[in-house]
Amino acid sequence: MGRTVVVLGGGISGLAASYYLSRAPCPPKVVLVEGSERLGGWIRSVRGPDGAIFELGPRGIRPAGALGARTLLLISELGLDSEVLPVRGDHPAAQNRFLYVGGALHALPSGIRGLLRPSPPFSKPLFWAGLRDLTTPRGKDPDETVHSFAQRRLGPEVASLAMDSLCRGVFAGNSRELSIRSCFPSLFQAEQTHRSILLGLLLGAGRGPQLDSALIRQARAERWSQWSLRGGLETLPQALNAHLTSRGVSVLQGQPVCGLSLQAEGRWKVSLEDSSLEADHIISAIPASVLSKLLPAEAAPLARALSTITAVSVAVVNLQYRGARLPVQGFGHLVPSSEDPVILGIVYDSVAFPEQDGSLPGLRLTVMLGGSWLQTLEARGCVLSQELLQQEAEKAAATQLGLNEPPSHCLVHLHKNSIPQYTLGHWQKLESAAQFLAAQKLPLTLAGASYEGVAVNDCIESGRQAAARVLGTEPNS
Ligand SMILES: Cc1cc2nc3c(=O)[nH]c(=O)nc-3n(C[C@H](O)[C@H](O)[C@H](O)COP(=O)(O)OP(=O)(O)OC[C@H]3O[C@@H](n4cnc5c(N)ncnc54)[C@H](O)[C@@H]3O)c2cc1C
Repeated sequence: MGRTVVVLGGGISGLAASYYLSRAPCPPKVVLVEGSERLGGWIRSVRGPDGAIFELGPRGIRPAGALGARTLLLISELGLDSEVLPVRGDHPAAQNRFLYVGGALHALPSGIRGLLRPSPPFSKPLFWAGLRDLTTPRGKDPDETVHSFAQRRLGPEVASLAMDSLCRGVFAGNSRELSIRSCFPSLFQAEQTHRSILLGLLLGAGRGPQLDSALIRQARAERWSQWSLRGGLETLPQALNAHLTSRGVSVLQGQPVCGLSLQAEGRWKVSLEDSSLEADHIISAIPASVLSKLLPAEAAPLARALSTITAVSVAVVNLQYRGARLPVQGFGHLVPSSEDPVILGIVYDSVAFPEQDGSLPGLRLTVMLGGSWLQTLEARGCVLSQELLQQEAEKAAATQLGLNEPPSHCLVHLHKNSIPQYTLGHWQKLESAAQFLAAQKLPLTLAGASYEGVAVNDCIESGRQAAARVLGTEPNS
């Protein structure tokens, strides 16, 4: 009888793991178990009354680098090329990103000339931050907070305005707690290898396997900054599900895993609410802290390490305005914590993807709320009502973008524990988990946003690598 691999979690990581398992020349029997009634995890797209698309989770995928190319290859393999909506390099959403500081929007400088010019809110041209980076010695610590790293290499303003905002935009997190090594590994590696972020990024660019397809070539030629899918990004998990079903993968939905136990012959018993499954190997693509509660007593040290990988909540408020205009054209803006503890940033969805606007002329925005404000309210046990979140989002759209009329359509979602936090020393947690798995020869492989990257590209890659490890194939092939 062939091997059975059970994949836990039907978010993009678990779907990707199942996909790459199912494409092996001699695939094992694959069972994907999802706790909720729908697949896709945080990837969720809904249609408004006029057909407009509102993304409740991710809204854009970056094509850059080896991982970006890998996802584009997956899109082509799934036959979705004609659904891709690119943001080309010459588009305002590719060229303009803003910071909201001191009550005003400031365009982030781009290109060499941009670095030489004064660029408020920074008091000096960013050229000086570059010069500081080139002349600062290599750090000696095995890890450092993002803030400390940026302050040391690029100066206090870049740390407290740009990197603080970036951590809020990507991780809804605090740059004084997040790890440079785990959150921005390319910056950490650049310093380790080339003693400078700038040199490292320049000299290290283009490394990794060179994948090729018509879509990848198009993305490179047109310098895409990101892309979406016509019907929203949820089209991707839906297409993966259709593929898995056609390949004979059992996809169970509405079946939360309640416990995992090891049997005498080294196989797993996966307990569901009313039944159980047997598995030779498990790929876990559920959050680390959830897995930690399911593991058996024999895996207590692993459970302890995983339980410390926590996640923060984000409130996503999608707003649609009839006949309104933005004061600037771009991808959106980020807000540093010193400016506004509540608002992480606002994405101008209609600028990047006007094709998703729906039949009536209007403007779609997404306001992201979170950070310490949300954490404090959650810790105090406050009820975070839809009205409160909507009010804060509308206030931000009015103050920061001058949109004073009420929106014509609004969706409010509080995504609890949605973004894992790679805090200082995260790498040690991963090492201790890997060492335990190897020492105990536990037939368990970890994938998903909890470990080595939260972006959709990272999650797909984590699923692919997990599948390769289970199949015993070379992950870079
Ligand atoms: C608001 C928001 C905006 C984002 N924006 C972007 C963006 O623009 N670009 C980008 O690249 N990335 C973005 N991300 C990040 C990215 O979307 C996520 O990191 C990624 O989707 C996580 O995928 P995952 O499969 O690892 O985890 P999840 O999506 O969390 O999937 C895990 C799955 O496991 C299931 N599960 C949990 N417990 C159990 C159990 N006991 N039994 C069975 N199943 C279980 C869950 O129901 C879920 O379906 C964003 C994330 C959020 C929250």
